[in-house]
Amino acid sequence: MSNSAPAEFPEITIPDEARADGAYEVLCAALGSYLDEAQLTSIYHAYLFGAQAHQGQMRKSGDPYISHPLAVATILAEMRMDVDSIIAAILHDVIEDTPTEKEQVAELFGDDVAQLVDGVSKLTQIEFESKVEAQAENFRKMLLAMVQDIRVIIIKLADRLHNMRTLGSMRSDKRRRIARETLEIYAPIANRLGMNGMRTELQELGFSEYYPMRHRVIAESVRKARGNRKEIVTKVQDAIEERLKEEALEGHVEGREKLLYSIYTKMQNKQLSFSEVFDVYAFRITVDSVDCCYRVLGAVHNLYKPLPGKFKDYIAIPKANGYQSLHTILFGPYGVPIEVQIRTREMDRLAEAGVAAHWLYKQHDEQDSFAEGRSHRRVREWMRSLLEMQKSAGDSLEFLENVKIDLFPEEVYVFTPKGTIMELPRGATAVDFAYAVHTDIGNRCVAVKIERRLAPLSTPLMNGQTVRIITAPAAQPNPTWLNFVVTGKARTNIRHYLKNLRRDESIELGRRMLEQALKGYSLSLNELSPGYLQMIVDEFRGEKLEDIFEDIGLGNRPAPLVARRIAEAPVFKGDAQSRSQTLRHAFSRYMPAWLGGNKMRPLAISGTEGMVVNFARCCHPIPGDSIQGFVSAGRGIVVHTESCKNVADFRNSPEKWVDVRWESNIENDFPVDIRVDAINRRGVLAIIASAISEMDSNINNVTIDGRDGKYSAMTFSISVQGRVHLARVMRHVKSLDMVSKIVRVKG
Ligand code: MN
Repeated sequence: MSNSAPAEFPEITIPDEARADGAYEVLCAALGSYLDEAQLTSIYHAYLFGAQAHQGQMRKSGDPYISHPLAVATILAEMRMDVDSIIAAILHDVIEDTPTEKEQVAELFGDDVAQLVDGVSKLTQIEFESKVEAQAENFRKMLLAMVQDIRVIIIKLADRLHNMRTLGSMRSDKRRRIARETLEIYAPIANRLGMNGMRTELQELGFSEYYPMRHRVIAESVRKARGNRKEIVTKVQDAIEERLKEEALEGHVEGREKLLYSIYTKMQNKQLSFSEVFDVYAFRITVDSVDCCYRVLGAVHNLYKPLPGKFKDYIAIPKANGYQSLHTILFGPYGVPIEVQIRTREMDRLAEAGVAAHWLYKQHDEQDSFAEGRSHRRVREWMRSLLEMQKSAGDSLEFLENVKIDLFPEEVYVFTPKGTIMELPRGATAVDFAYAVHTDIGNRCVAVKIERRLAPLSTPLMNGQTVRIITAPAAQPNPTWLNFVVTGKARTNIRHYLKNLRRDESIELGRRMLEQALKGYSLSLNELSPGYLQMIVDEFRGEKLEDIFEDIGLGNRPAPLVARRIAEAPVFKGDAQSRSQTLRHAFSRYMPAWLGGNKMRPLAISGTEGMVVNFARCCHPIPGDSIQGFVSAGRGIVVHTESCKNVADFRNSPEKWVDVRWESNIENDFPVDIRVDAINRRGVLAIIASAISEMDSNINNVTIDGRDGKYSAMTFSISVQGRVHLARVMRHVKSLDMVSKIVRVKG
């Protein structure tokens, strides 16, 4: 039942040329009597609504557009699908092709129907363009992964079936594309879902359209061969029926025509000639019970000798999609091979309908109001029935796993800009995607466009999206990515890169820090002989000079200490230049360098040092601010503004201080927070945001801190080049008449 069908349906009158009353009558005939009055009324309303929405649209054949959705609904009615599926089929193109909104469908026909229509529209928007064979499998998986409700796929299959039946009026290149997609994507999905009737018709239509010549040749051969067969078919059928009667077995025997596509694929896959495939006579015997299947098998094995090794018991061990039947091949009269399938009527029905059989309309079976839960429950029911068959067979559960993975996938499938489909684990982000494409893309990615829109790199990807990674040659992986990536590949690569990078950056910083510290002694690393440096390395128990630099850069070893150790070495004593230094050393022995014994020039900071120079998040220093650095073990230098209240915490550990200053020409942007109080009126946020952008500043984040009736307080995290730039931004925002106050947030 549609769970929220409206009490009153609006009066709809539409011109005759938009109606397709003939097609509607065909649908009604197919609906027969399996739905009740109220449901039939909803279906009629859907017809009127759909005809009105598509009014003015024509099919290529010249029919009013609504005739197509009605035909799709008819296919589903023949499968006896539930009323929501029928209504959704009638409306399946209104969201995609008319101005109708999903909400409107929900209002008139209930949320379930709206969800189904929306689901079908989303599948329709995805185009299969890839020329790579291997992509077809992924594309199938993606379609299945996209649907929350398996009925969406069933409606889509019916839609495709009707389009295939009416391909005639389309352009030929378009016909070929659709036919190929049908063979590669939709027929295999129908097969996966056990819907044999759907699969075979899609295959036959797809085959004749995509390989018209081969189709014609095989059809002609079949027509010619058929005449000769008639006699044998009748003879075998009579013999089997006779034998069943003798054994008092009830069964319906019918000769089966081989489908052209299946003849073709058998010839292709097994390298057989036409006659080798076709000269096999096929019969199906349907009976009442499983027990009867085996007794009929005994009877026919008794009638004609079975071909050794050809008997297959798909009743005990069903096929992956749940198909059940006994298959055997017999030596018939004149030695012709006879293929026999034996199954119950129920098995036959399930083989035709597959998963759709579980939506056969049943009265009073709906308790659950959650469409998704219900739909999944139906699929689970279907799988449970497979499971039960499997249990009684005592076989492995592998086939079930396959179906389960398809219908409840752990993966997401997304497109690269070139249309290649990437498979990623659920929850994977743009960064995972970038690394999946190529390690270099991952290492250089700076931004991502998802469906042509910029999105944060941490955005989890969804099925069917097209993802374009934007890279920059100088970009580097960001350590914060490790907080959200889910793939091993991304994680390993980021870690690896950071480890190397960190070492390089630490070495460079450590060298600069030591150089600065040595200046206090009027020394420079260049003046020192390699042998002497090695002595120092040995003393600090490193292997190479780089190890000492790295230690300094990481903050594990104070640069002044190493500098002093170098300066105090006996090798400098006695030489003329160092005499004065010796005096100073004597002095500095009582007064350590970091207390001013050696006044060092501050270290210049540009913001491009990488991970070993960090800007404190409490005070967000920007160029122009007075700053103070602190060495923190393992992290390098952290830079605060001098006025930051956290600086006080370091007052008692001066050994951690590093004097720093800003480099003179800095081109980087630095983050800073500003708080804006503004009058609470519509669009205020957008107006302030655009004022900030006008001043060439990027907004990284906005938080609304508080809002009463009249005022809003907002904090913008923005990027600026320095104090001058910040002042310009603030002045501009302040000039807006709705802004009452603006301050920089410090600490
Ligand atoms: Mn359609």
